[in-house]
Amino acid sequence: MATSTTTDDAQLRQLLRDFISACHILHHHRVLDAFGHLSVRHPRYADRFIMSRYIAPGTISSERDLIEYWVDDAEPVNPSASKGYTERCIHSEILKRFKDVHAVVHSHAEAVMPYTISGVPFRPCSHMAGFLSSTSCPVFDIGDHYEAGDRKDMLVRNTRLGGVLASYFGEGEPAHSVVLMRGHGFTVQGSSIMDVVLRAVYTLQNASVQTTALLTQAAYFGGPGVRSGGIDERPEMHYLTQEETEATTEMSRRSAGRPWRLWLREVEATGMYVNAA
Ligand SMILES: [Zn+2]
Repeated sequence: MATSTTTDDAQLRQLLRDFISACHILHHHRVLDAFGHLSVRHPRYADRFIMSRYIAPGTISSERDLIEYWVDDAEPVNPSASKGYTERCIHSEILKRFKDVHAVVHSHAEAVMPYTISGVPFRPCSHMAGFLSSTSCPVFDIGDHYEAGDRKDMLVRNTRLGGVLASYFGEGEPAHSVVLMRGHGFTVQGSSIMDVVLRAVYTLQNASVQTTALLTQAAYFGGPGVRSGGIDERPEMHYLTQEETEATTEMSRRSAGRPWRLWLREVEATGMYVNAA
């Protein structure tokens, strides 16, 4: 029994250390700036999750910066906990809806923003982004879901709006890894801290690749409305097929440790970040 508890304690300490490193990695890779956040389900208590207090993720440095919340209502387990993030209902509602989801990242990354407002479908462009839906990522438009009394500042401020956002991921099992949020950013779910960090970083990379591909194609073949003989000569963009997204997702899962170890080394080497957990 004592051995088991010791093992549990060691695993929890490692998880908290990984959580802090993940926040640093997400900042270093521009997934998070002063805003946006990571959450992880508590490894011992499935009805709780962990987030940081109300500070920029790159400045989180110890367990004292972390807070436990109830999945049910996103309220702190310790009522006297420090101030937390306003949008923690995003995380609680996704963790509530999907029992096998263990980590969530919410980001305001600039690279992804055009796909939240332009109507251009966000599609998987390369083998590292096979976790994206082969059809198109859903776009949550908060403007469709405000009720009387809601502050229309685009933030997901309550469990109702968080619940609607969570429903965009699917029914039963998640059908999507990423949901875009109109004029705001995106949210990504994963099975672990490492998994969700990988998905978040490669969501940004995919946005960069897709934007460059669309611009490259328009520059070469002409923009929309430029036609020859009445026929649009631009070829179809070659996104990953559903079969390819499934196979590459499995491939990425097997090799997730490699980028994680590299990114960990990067944030340890910069000298900017502190992880005392
Ligand atoms: Zn936000």
